[in-house]
Amino acid sequence: MSECIFCRIANGEIPSATLYEDDDFRVILDLGPASKGHALILPKSHAANIYELPDELAGKAMVLAKKMAGRMTEALECDGFNIVQNNGEVAGQTVFHFHMHLIPRYEGDQVNV
Ligand code: 5GP
Ligand code: ZN
Repeated sequence: MSECIFCRIANGEIPSATLYEDDDFRVILDLGPASKGHALILPKSHAANIYELPDELAGKAMVLAKKMAGRMTEALECDGFNIVQNNGEVAGQTVFHFHMHLIPRYEGDQVNV
């Protein structure tokens, strides 16, 4: 069993609030949301960061981010959207399994990304 928490979540070993799943990715709600609906795109295969992520998955992740942003904007009626991806501790990365943040933004919110 993997010791990487996001490997375990992505592959369903640990239950999560899942918004979307396919063969390559799981999209879950963030445990400590920066805004209502804050979600994370997790690849099911382990890559610590964007440098380790295979190009094919990087492309698929961006297409999925676009699809999710559209769906979530419609469902949440948010006013804007941040898509954020941190690499390295100095950049704010705390979980060392590649993930993309999907952060819905609302008029007047005080979110720092
Ligand atoms: P990072 O700082 O690495 O870019 O983002 C890590 C994100 O993962 C944070 O927003 C944090 O709230 C979230 N997170 C950490 N552990 C868990 C977890 O066990 N479950 C979920 N759903 N989110 C987590
Ligand atoms: Zn992992």
